[in-house]
Order: sequence, then C-alpha cells, then structure tokens
Amino acid sequence: MYRTHTCGELRIENVGKTVTLSGWVQKNRDLGGMTFIDIRDRYGITQLAFNMETNSKLTEDARKLGREYVIQVTGLVTERYSKNKRIPTGEIEINVEELKVLNKSDVPPFTIEDKTDGGEEILMKYRYLDLRRNPNQQALMLRYKMSIEVRNYLDKQGFIDVETPVLIKSTPEGARDFVVPSRLHHGSFYALPQSPQTMKQLLMVAGYDRYYQIVKCFRDEDLRADRQPEFTQIDCEMSFVEQEDILNTFEGLAKHMFKVFKNVEFNEPFIRMPYAEAMEKYGSDKPDLRFGMEINNITNLGKGKDFKIFDDAEFIGGICAKNISDKFTRKQIDKLTDYVKRPQIGAQGLIWLRFNEDGTLKSSVDKFFNEEDLKKWADSFNAQPNDILFVVSGSKEKSLKILGELRLELARQLELFDNSKFAPLWVVDFPLLEWDEETKRFYAMHHPFTSPKPDDIELLDSDPGKVRANAYDFVVNGVELGGGSIRIHDSELQSKMFKTLGFSDEEAQEQFGFLMNAFKYGAPPHGGIAYGFDRWTAMFNDSDSIKDVIAFPKNNSGKDVMLESPGTISNTQLDELGLKLK
Ligand code: ASP
Repeated sequence: MYRTHTCGELRIENVGKTVTLSGWVQKNRDLGGMTFIDIRDRYGITQLAFNMETNSKLTEDARKLGREYVIQVTGLVTERYSKNKRIPTGEIEINVEELKVLNKSDVPPFTIEDKTDGGEEILMKYRYLDLRRNPNQQALMLRYKMSIEVRNYLDKQGFIDVETPVLIKSTPEGARDFVVPSRLHHGSFYALPQSPQTMKQLLMVAGYDRYYQIVKCFRDEDLRADRQPEFTQIDCEMSFVEQEDILNTFEGLAKHMFKVFKNVEFNEPFIRMPYAEAMEKYGSDKPDLRFGMEINNITNLGKGKDFKIFDDAEFIGGICAKNISDKFTRKQIDKLTDYVKRPQIGAQGLIWLRFNEDGTLKSSVDKFFNEEDLKKWADSFNAQPNDILFVVSGSKEKSLKILGELRLELARQLELFDNSKFAPLWVVDFPLLEWDEETKRFYAMHHPFTSPKPDDIELLDSDPGKVRANAYDFVVNGVELGGGSIRIHDSELQSKMFKTLGFSDEEAQEQFGFLMNAFKYGAPPHGGIAYGFDRWTAMFNDSDSIKDVIAFPKNNSGKDVMLESPGTISNTQLDELGLKLK
C-alpha cells in the first residue's frame, strides 16, 4: 500500500498512529541532529522528522533526497514541538521509520512554491510542474467544483447534457474557423465549432427543449489576455421561451454560483440595461458598474464660443473625476492625454477643467470659455470643488468609446476597482447588425441566427442598422461573462437575414441549408445563452488571466510551448491528406 493517508489529512487526534504517506519532497532541511522534510501532495503538506541519534542510516538517506523526489514513508504521528499555525497539519509530524524512494527527480527549473521564481515562458513549458503549485491546484479545483455546481443546478431545472460533434462544417459565426483536412475526402475540410450554436438549435428542432453542455469552442482569432484559441462555454438552449424566460433562468444560475462560491447574495433582479444606455453612460457594451463616473453629454454647452473643434463636433461629452484635483498633477493629466491619444483609442486631445477648492475654475480652454460658461459645465456634471472634468469631442460613437476607455483608465489609476465587489447586469437590446466600413456590408453583431425585435422587423429593409436584436449579454465588473439571443425559427426570416448579411441564395443554401431545411419541419420558438466558463472561473478565482484556470493553456501567440504545438507534420501525413504546402 502506497499510503494510508494523504499529506493534508493528519491532525493532533492522530498522534500515536503509524501511517504511510506518499508524495513529493517540497523542502529538505538538515539541522544536524535532525533532518526535516516537507512532503507534499495535492491535499497538503506534512512535516517528516528524521532523527540522527535514533536512526542515522535513515537520516543519511533522507538528507540525500532532492526536491521533487517521489517518496513513500512510514512512521509514527507525533506532536510537534514548534507548531506551524499556517498549515492544517502543522501540529503534528511523522517520526519516520521507513523511507522508500519511488522515483528521483531532476532539479526542477523553478521553485514549486506559492510564489515561484519562474518566468511565464518557463512555467508554461513545464506546466506539469507549475500545476503542482498550490495556487494552480486551487484554481483547477475551483473550476471543477464550479462545473459540478453548474451541472447540478441545470439538472434540477430539467436540462440535459447532450454532446455535439467537434468535427463539423465551416459555418461563419463571426470568427475564423479552425479547419481539419479530410483524409477520406481530399479537398474537403471539417471545421471545429466556434460554438455548438447550430447543433443546439437542431436539438431544439428535435424536441430536446432544455439542453446544456460544458463544451470546448474553437476560434482562430488574434489573442488577448482573456482569449484562448480553444475555450470552454456553458452552452445552453431552451424552447418555448421569450427573452425574459432565458434571463430569469440563467440569472438564477448566476445567483446560485455567487452564493455558493463567493457567499454573495443578490436579492434583487439584475439590472437590465439597454445597449444604447450602456454606450451613452459608460462608452462600453460591458460597463463596469462598481463605480460611477458616468459620461455626461455637454454638446449644447460647448458650441457657439468660436472654439472650432467643438463647433465642428457632432458630440461633446466628458466624465467627472471626484475629489482629486489637489493631488492630480498637470503631469498626470498630460500622461492621461497621451493615453487617450494612443492609436488604439484615437482621441485628438483631452480637455480638462479643474474645479478648485476655493470655487474658482481653471481649464485648458479658458481662451474660449469664461468663468460663467465653465460654471455651466461644472453644474451639468454636478461637480464639486476639487473635482476634475475631462472632456472630448468628435463623432458621437467614437467620443463615447474614448470616454469609456478614459473612465476605466482613471479608475485604474485612482484604484476604484474593488475586486471584493460584484456588479452584475444584463445588457439588452443590442443592435442586430454592425456596419463594416472596410467591406461595406453589414455583419451580425451576435451571430446570424439572432432574431430581430418584432417591432423592428419592418426596418430590416429600410434601415437595417437601426434594427434591435433579441440579444443579451451578461456582464460583471466590466467583463462579458456570457451572451445569447432568441433565435430566428422561421426559415423565411432566416433567409431574409442571410440576404441582409450579403449572402446570395446559393451561398446561404450551401452554408446553412441544413438549418433552413430543419426549420421547415416544425422548429419551435427557441433561444439560449452561453456563459464563458474560463472567464467566470477566472473572476471567482480573482485571476487576471483565464490562463490561470486552464490546465494547459496556449501562450499569447496561440502556441503550446510544452507540446510545441502547432507543429509540422510529415510528408506522409501530407500525402495522405492530399495536401501540398505552399
Ligand atoms: N453561440 C453563442 C456564442 O458562442 C452563444 C449563444 O448565442 O447561445 O456566443
């Protein structure tokens, strides 16, 4: 028997018992007469004691054990002389009588401790060693427990888990597909699903009215901190539902998760905020509601004072940073200006107005606006002495986005993000379509299966950009944790939608024929949602990156540096697939 107990299990009550433990050598301390070794497994750490006086051979052997050796020990549980309050086993140690080396280890390339000395690249290359570290084990354990909780909750609500294929057909859902060449059908390719979107809709046609799956999705996109080429969704779909039914059902799941894992109870319904309001107030479709600093429109106050930039602008607006003027230096304002002028954000400049503590006002546009004008600005922001207003102008859409970024950057600098606080909301009434200037065509903002609001269907022909969708996102603390929509279930409306998106009848039939055909056979009204499981776990784990909660993530350029993937394949494999590299 390799072990009678785990390394996290023994307590003072076990003193006097002979036990066997197996695990990894965490630390080896030779104090002359005594040698102490910390043995570790995923359950914890236990101290082993070797006594030179009573057993010199064994103690000599123990001294030779290197870090990460796998050992098995048998000995007596004894009360520790100096107790370690920081670990649950800290009151006892094992007086070792037998020691067996189960396997040796090379010296690991970094320390396997809570705070390691390894850089990101090396940690990823030796991810199996990194995963031995306690914070990572905790993260994966949390992920597992969350998945069990999701399954139990949905099971109780009558949802069933149905697996859908990973080798499907390339169907544009908004991102680029990963494709897999077919050996049996040269020149043909499978695609890996961007999500099981069409599959779950087909399950609704098949009558499985409450479906869920915790499922891998694949998108060949440029990576960002919270993106991986393969990621996991809690994917759900329901039949005979309206938007409110979906929101209520999955709000229930979200509340349950907050209660179980964060001990946070939400007794009120989550806010439902129209997309237009989110953009106007926060310059973002995923507003962080943990702090205020809402955007204020002062277009009327800024015009007619011979300040050309304002006079030419469609929109003038800003945000008010409370109670910082005495400590926010001119240099900091300049830096903030540089921040919003970065090409990714694209502001032309940043206008500021300080509300001094003596009630006077000082701004970067004093030449054009007198004290009385500026007072009107301050009043419209409800500004108080010691506040600073930051103002931008230009096209409305762009200015709101700039202010949204500025708001977040200011919050970062002023430390307004409180990670112990959760501010969930639903963003609803998204536009159905998004115009792309480059390709001069509309794209589905969510995906092409999302239904328009019934009141807006008429506009599909006359003013498609104005059509609102039955689509919703779940947002917490500025992070999009999920999204979904009520789907089109009528084949005619679906083909009209494809037309609006620039597909010819043939193209639509070619790519989505299976779905439109299915809709001819009694498709029920249906809708669904997918929660981003990695992001959700990362948030509950208080991690900045989803990589922390994925066992084997890819790096920022989409590579698995441990597997060295993607990698080349042999000429034989290429031949079998009928492929020639360019
Ligand atoms: N398939 C969608 C997505 O991955 C979610 C949904 O509409 O249910 O974003």
